[in-house]
Amino acid sequence: MPKISAKWRDFGTSIFSIMTQKAIASGAVNLAQGFPDFDGPTVIKDAAIAAIKAGRNQYAPAPGVPELRQLLAQRKAEQSQRTYDWHSEVTIFSGASEAIFCALQALFDPGDEILAFEPYFDSYPAAAHSSGARIVGIPLDPPSFTFTRSSLEQAVTKRTRALLLNSPHNPTGRAFNQVELEILRDFVLAHDLLVITDEVYEELVYSPAKHQSIADLPDMAERSIVISSTAKTFSFTGWKVGYAFAPKELTAALRAVHQFTVFCSATPLQYGMIAALELGPEYFSELRQDYRLRRDLLLTELRASGFRAEAPEGTYFIVADYSDLSTVDDLKFASQLTEQHKVAAIPISVFYTDQQLAARRYRYVRFAFCKNQATIAEAGSRLRRIREP
Ligand code: GLN
Repeated sequence: MPKISAKWRDFGTSIFSIMTQKAIASGAVNLAQGFPDFDGPTVIKDAAIAAIKAGRNQYAPAPGVPELRQLLAQRKAEQSQRTYDWHSEVTIFSGASEAIFCALQALFDPGDEILAFEPYFDSYPAAAHSSGARIVGIPLDPPSFTFTRSSLEQAVTKRTRALLLNSPHNPTGRAFNQVELEILRDFVLAHDLLVITDEVYEELVYSPAKHQSIADLPDMAERSIVISSTAKTFSFTGWKVGYAFAPKELTAALRAVHQFTVFCSATPLQYGMIAALELGPEYFSELRQDYRLRRDLLLTELRASGFRAEAPEGTYFIVADYSDLSTVDDLKFASQLTEQHKVAAIPISVFYTDQQLAARRYRYVRFAFCKNQATIAEAGSRLRRIREP
């Protein structure tokens, strides 16, 4: 029998793969895994195809194609106080998940503790575990999904090294506001923590909510790694082009890991994303408008079907309370929903450190609305049948 590393033995298949396989096997509408069922702009695809045809098919520089890094630095400078030197402070990764993985490998040692709001994205504990560190969850309790300074303080030990923040937040859809970010800033400074901020849903925030990066608060940028991605913003989740902004020393540490993880991200896809960053502001406002319509449609369908849910401030997810429909735990409910009612969703207990406790305590599943209106409407008509005898 092959011997599997004790380190990775406990990490099975990701819930996103499990639910997508179940959705395919059951013929369910897949509102589980967060990927659009439409493509991003044609000009981006054409730019990648042109790059392939023009022979841009060998390794890119390990930190990324220079023009793409320059455009990212320029865009960041328009939005933020801190400017980043494209040469030494901007790096392209194979998706934000790779950037997070490299950050946790680069910065932490066995025994270190990293704080993250739970429910948290499933790659965080795996990436932490791989460096011998661990994620310590700070609860975001429903229905408000907020926190207090004392909930932060309770999670701190002498091993706490960093805050891994995700805003806008998957799965709750929270876009943390100024007051919350200031609490986090004071806390981070009081305990001298590093900040890794995962902002992949930054463009998917619905007014009056606004995206604000914690790194833009005073004294934060020098201790922060700001991670984002082109996947959600341009609807190409399969291209896996992510990026990170960080001060020079932190960037050097990230790059040391990145060069031995993938060395460089796919060259022609980086050229494709140059065209994405050249899109005007109307692209981003249309994106938000379209997503707001999808969000409102899914919310209406969920409420009409007997779920309790609020409009999320950001992301393309709605976390819905099914306790008026069923008393089973969320794993079972998600399976039944997929197999019997033909709509796939994600059980949220898998995003907690103590998954069994979460499964006993919460009755929530996550639905993705990064889908055509026709797909959401079809899911809605299936969900409305749950209550039929
Ligand atoms: N980020 C997406 C989600 O939360 C997809 C993640 C994945 O498939 N690994 O659904």
